[in-house]
Amino acid sequence: MKRLEREHSAFFHTYKRIPLDIERGRGMELVTSGGKRYLDMFSGLAVNALGYGNPAVVAAIRKQAGLYTHVSNYYLQEPQIRLAELLVRRTGLPRVFFCNSGTEAVEGAIKIVRRWGSLNGKAEIVSFTNSFHGRTMGALSLMDRPRYREGFGPFLEDFRVAPFDDPAGLQHAVNRKTAAVVLEVIQGEGGIRPISEAFASALKQLQTQHGFLLVADEIQSGVGRTGSFFAFERYGLRPDIVVIAKPIGGGLPLGAILGGPAVARILEPGMHGTTFGGNPVACAAGIAVLAEIDRKKLMTHAAAMGHLLLSELRTLATEFPTLVRDVRGAGLMAGMELSVECEPAVVAMRDRGILINGTDRTVLRFLPPLIVQAIHIKRTVKALREVLGEMAARKS
Ligand code: PLP
Repeated sequence: MKRLEREHSAFFHTYKRIPLDIERGRGMELVTSGGKRYLDMFSGLAVNALGYGNPAVVAAIRKQAGLYTHVSNYYLQEPQIRLAELLVRRTGLPRVFFCNSGTEAVEGAIKIVRRWGSLNGKAEIVSFTNSFHGRTMGALSLMDRPRYREGFGPFLEDFRVAPFDDPAGLQHAVNRKTAAVVLEVIQGEGGIRPISEAFASALKQLQTQHGFLLVADEIQSGVGRTGSFFAFERYGLRPDIVVIAKPIGGGLPLGAILGGPAVARILEPGMHGTTFGGNPVACAAGIAVLAEIDRKKLMTHAAAMGHLLLSELRTLATEFPTLVRDVRGAGLMAGMELSVECEPAVVAMRDRGILINGTDRTVLRFLPPLIVQAIHIKRTVKALREVLGEMAARKS
């Protein structure tokens, strides 16, 4: 039996797998068992920020695996403590809780909000249309898209979904009973949609007026991808809680809730916890990830490469005005919205040896490793020009 058939017969059918049998990765490339090489402009859904096989990350994993891979959160573990200190120092948020994934970080953030709300006479949590926060029941309660929710209700109470990037809609949705607003400042799964400056300033003003917590979901956009450590920095927002995951574990499962002063004393022993969260090997990898981002100046690099990628995509947009509706993003989080379904373009790019992804049906999504070079961007854009050319020819 071939691998795809074996997968199909043994798994719940939750993933529509791409029939690529990956054998290894190196730098910007993935190599299949058949020896075909692919340029990875998607980095395992924003996880592999340093590409594949970064020597510092591999060495950190090896070293920690040789010491201990798990002891439980009953004990003191230097990799966890060190990574927490580094995150506190870098972000100015004084409290960290480690978990295993993005959705678990969101779930924990909801609990912190609820507890804070119960002490402050506030309950409701406001989120936004078209957002994505994960697959657990709490995360799904924040989301409005039927694709993710249908058949899984009932969801949690006291959640309200406001229209995304709509200052008037937000004003209508929040009041003195609002415990928190949960926001991706750039929607990822939702089609690489950044909030506007006008929305950010309305949010700041309403936060001051009503005193709710702001929770920033930086799971896809955070840890340097957009050219700053967090994407919200470009708007001058001041979240009370930030959730991160994806790249922070260097490819190992690791998420974190970062809390500001308002929630720093909310949790007491026993109120929240996890067996695996803050796994020492994942934390050792995380320390190496942060060190590599600094050593290689990858945030500045991401800003420069992101600028190149977005300007090249905008040039393509002018060349194919009937096919390309919009180009959006920040740093190395870029999207090209087409006027047609994007899946054929994703497949055609793959046939040319380049991995990207499609989201929200019509949006080509580019999330390359932060180590991407101009040559990779030029190659991607050249291939995309061919693909769009073929699509345009078929359309006319
Ligand atoms: N929040 C955002 C913005 C995401 O992009 C994702 C995953 O894509 C999640 C939450 C959920 O993270 P995970 O898949 O690690 O549970």
